[in-house]
Amino acid sequence: MGMKRHDRHSQAVIRSARWKAVRLAVKRRDGWKCVECGKAGRLEVHHVQPVRTHPELAFELSNLKSLCPSCHSRRTRIEIGLGQENPAREAWKRLVAELQPKTLQAAKDTPHA
Ligand SMILES: [Zn+2]
Repeated sequence: MGMKRHDRHSQAVIRSARWKAVRLAVKRRDGWKCVECGKAGRLEVHHVQPVRTHPELAFELSNLKSLCPSCHSRRTRIEIGLGQENPAREAWKRLVAELQPKTLQAAKDTPHA
């Protein structure tokens, strides 16, 4: 976890004994999977409304969700105003992804999936 802690409030929450119990309950509720990409394995529990602005929701199950480290760090970057996905770049990536399978199919002459 090389991520920089950007606020002290969430640090206080994360260190508490109560957090350990709540975190476990959230992961169990979410079936031990990332709610965004469905990946199982190492999970982090994310505050939908940040502790910084909504400290009263810090231990609220409805304000929490299980995320894998990569979805979690993407979320956090967006929240603190970094790493906004560029829409033009996203559109380009989609286009490339759409083109690729066709090229492969033509080359291999396999039936359409
Ligand atoms: Zn994920």
